[in-house]
Amino acid sequence: MVIAEDFDVIIIGGGATGLGTARDAVLRGFRVLLIERFDIATGATGSNHGLLHSGARYAVTDPESAKECIGENIILRRIACHCIENTGGLFLTLPEDDLTFQKEFVNACVNCGIEANVLSAREARHLDPSVNPLLKGAVRVPDGAIDPFMLSAANLIDAREHGAQIWTYHEVKGIIRRQDKVVGVEVFCHKTRERKEVYAPVVVNAVGIWGQQIARMAGIDITMQPNKGSMLVYGERVNKMALNRCRKPGNADILVPSAAVTLMGTTSIDIPFDEIANAKVTPQEVDLLVGEGEKLSPALARTRILRAYSGVRPLAVVGTHHSGRSISRGIVLFDHAERDGLEGYITITGGKLMTYRLMAEWTVDLICSKLGVAARCTTAEKPLPGSQEERVSVNKKMFSFPSLLRRSLIQRHGDRAIQIFDFISVLWGQRKKRSADKLLARSVLCPCEEITSGEVLYAQKELGISNLMDLRRRTSVGMGECQGEICICRAAGLLGCNKEEVIHFLQERWKGIAPVAWGDALRESEITEMLYGGVCGFKNESR
Ligand SMILES: Cc1cc2nc3c(=O)[nH]c(=O)nc-3n(C[C@H](O)[C@H](O)[C@H](O)COP(=O)(O)OP(=O)(O)OC[C@H]3O[C@@H](n4cnc5c(N)ncnc54)[C@H](O)[C@@H]3O)c2cc1C
Repeated sequence: MVIAEDFDVIIIGGGATGLGTARDAVLRGFRVLLIERFDIATGATGSNHGLLHSGARYAVTDPESAKECIGENIILRRIACHCIENTGGLFLTLPEDDLTFQKEFVNACVNCGIEANVLSAREARHLDPSVNPLLKGAVRVPDGAIDPFMLSAANLIDAREHGAQIWTYHEVKGIIRRQDKVVGVEVFCHKTRERKEVYAPVVVNAVGIWGQQIARMAGIDITMQPNKGSMLVYGERVNKMALNRCRKPGNADILVPSAAVTLMGTTSIDIPFDEIANAKVTPQEVDLLVGEGEKLSPALARTRILRAYSGVRPLAVVGTHHSGRSISRGIVLFDHAERDGLEGYITITGGKLMTYRLMAEWTVDLICSKLGVAARCTTAEKPLPGSQEERVSVNKKMFSFPSLLRRSLIQRHGDRAIQIFDFISVLWGQRKKRSADKLLARSVLCPCEEITSGEVLYAQKELGISNLMDLRRRTSVGMGECQGEICICRAAGLLGCNKEEVIHFLQERWKGIAPVAWGDALRESEITEMLYGGVCGFKNESR
C-alpha cells in the first residue's frame, strides 16, 4: 500500500459537480485532489440532454430549482460562453395541450425571475419554422444548449492549471475514519493495479447517483433514487430553438438543437441500483420519443436517427417524494458533521448540470468554514479556459488553416483553439522535410466533425486522455454521422491503440445504434461491420 501526499481537500467523482468543486477549491488556495474511477464526464454529466435551462421547465412545479437555474443560466453564459449556444427556447402549446396552463406558467416564470414572453402561433413559427404548424401558442424563454463534455474539460483544465491533481482511472474503495472523523480515502488505480491511501481533513462525496454507496463506506446513510432518462440523437439540426411542451414536466417533451444534431428526450423511469451501469434504451422508449418528437417538430419524421442513449439522474430523496419526476431537482448539500456527527465529510448531490457551479460554490464555502479559511468564491466571475475571449479573434496565423477546420476547432475549444493551432503549427514546422508527416498534422482525421490529426495529437499530449473513448469526449471523434466508421481506425493508428481498443470503441457505439437500427442507421452500421469485420478481421461480439 502506497501512502500518497497529503491534501487539504479530496473530491470523489469527476462529473461536472466534482470538477467544478475542484476548480473552485483550488482557486481559493486549497491543495486539491480529485479522484475519478473512469474518465471525466462518464456519469450523468456525459449522458444528459444538454439543455441550458432557464428554469422555466420547473417554474410551476419546483420554483426553488427554477430560481437556481436562471441564476446560473446568466452566469454560465458569461463564464462558459464557448460551451453554450444561445438558441433561446419556446414552450409550445400543441393541439392536445390546455392553453389555460400558459397563464399559470408565465406567472410562475415571472415569480422566479425568468423572462417569459407570450407569442402567437404565427410569431412562434416565424422564430422557428420547424415547430408544429398546428400549435395553439408559445412562450419564449432564455433556454439554450450546453455541451457537457466541453464544460467538464474546461473545468478540468483550469483546476489542473491552478495546481489541482486530477486522478482519473482511480476508484475510491474505502473511506478512512478515525473515530468520528473522516481523514482520507483508499484508492485503487485501474492502470497500475496499485492501492493507495490519501489523506485530507475534508473529503467530498460528489459521485452523483453512486453517493449512497460512497456514504455507506463511511458508515452513514443517504437515500438516492436512480431514475433513468433516455434520449435520441437525430443526425441533423432540425430546430433553431430549444423546444419544450407548455405543460407540467412529462415524458418526451424537449427537443434541443446541439451543434450539428438534435437531441430528443427524455423519459423518466425509476430503476434498481444494479441496473445503473447497464441502463438500456427500450423499444417502448424509442417509440414514445419518436412519436412525441414528431408532435413538437414534424420534420423529425424525415430525419435520420443516429443513436439512442440514456443516463441516470442523481436524485436525492430528502422529503416524502420517492420517485422520478416528483423528486426536486434542487441542490442537496449534507454536512455530515451536523447531520450524522461525522466530521470531515461532505456530500453534494442532486441539482443539474446547469447548477454545477453553484453546487461547487456551496460545497467550497462549507469547506472554508470547516478549515477556518476566509476565501471568496470567484468562479462566477472568472471565465473558464476557452471562454476567456467572448468572440475568438482569429489570430492572423490561423488564416492559413482552411476555414471549415478553423471554425470547427474554435467551436470545440473556444479561445484555446489558438493554443491548439500553435501546437499543430509546431508539428507542421518540425516535420517540414518529410512531406507525409508534414501533411499529417493538418490532415482531416474525422470528416464528420472536421477534426485534424493535429488536434488528436494535442488531446493526447495536453488533455489527459488514455484511450479512444476519452478522445471522443475531448474532441468529438466518433460522434458524427458515421459513428466512428471512418475516423476511429485513423485515430487508433495515430495514437498507437490496439485492436481490442478499436473493437471496444465500436461496441460502445453499437450499443447506441442498436435501439434505432433501421433505415440509414442500419445501412451505415452494416458498412462499419463490413469494413472492420470483413476487411480488418475484427469481430463485434455484441452484435
Ligand atoms: C437523462 C438525463 C437528462 C438530463 N438533462 C439535463 C439537462 O438537460 N440539463 C441539465 O442541466 N441537467 C440535466 N441532467 C442532470 C445532470 O446531468 C446531472 O445533474 C449532472 O450531470 C450530475 O453531475 P455529477 O457530477 O453530480 O454526477 P456524475 O456526472 O454522475 O458524476 C459522478 C462521477 O462519480 C464517479 N464515481 C462513482 N463512484 C466512484 C468511486 N468509487 N470512485 C471514484 N469515482 C467514482 C463516476 O464515475 C462519475 O463520473 C440530466 C440528467 C439525466 C440523467
